[in-house]
Amino acid sequence: MADTPNIGDRIDSYCGRCKMMLAHTVETIEGGKIKKCHCNTCGAQHAYRPKPPKRIPGMPAVPEPSDYDKLIKAQDADKAKKYKTSDRFQPTELINHATFGLGIVLTCKESNKIEVLFQDGAKTLVHGR
Ligand SMILES: [Zn+2]
Repeated sequence: MADTPNIGDRIDSYCGRCKMMLAHTVETIEGGKIKKCHCNTCGAQHAYRPKPPKRIPGMPAVPEPSDYDKLIKAQDADKAKKYKTSDRFQPTELINHATFGLGIVLTCKESNKIEVLFQDGAKTLVHGR
């Protein structure tokens, strides 16, 4: 019975509220697999997530201003794309903004917005206009 999960077992799962891997307690099991669990830290009940959600390699889930230098240095500044609202940008792309300077695209939001990390913090810009 070593590999059979039981209700009430302590397991490690990703908690979407705490945003990290934490100890959880098994709540429901379906077909020998853990379905639902609750976080022992915040008490949130959710589906069992044995791994944290996928993110861009080398990109912090929640960027800190101190990550800026690291992210920019990992890129070739000469290849920065000039920011224009008419262009479209992809996550991890380096852009050059007339006002904010060099920035790195973190995520695409909705259909025409991107979140870009600049020296003085993350900003939401439009693209693909
Ligand atoms: Zn939690």
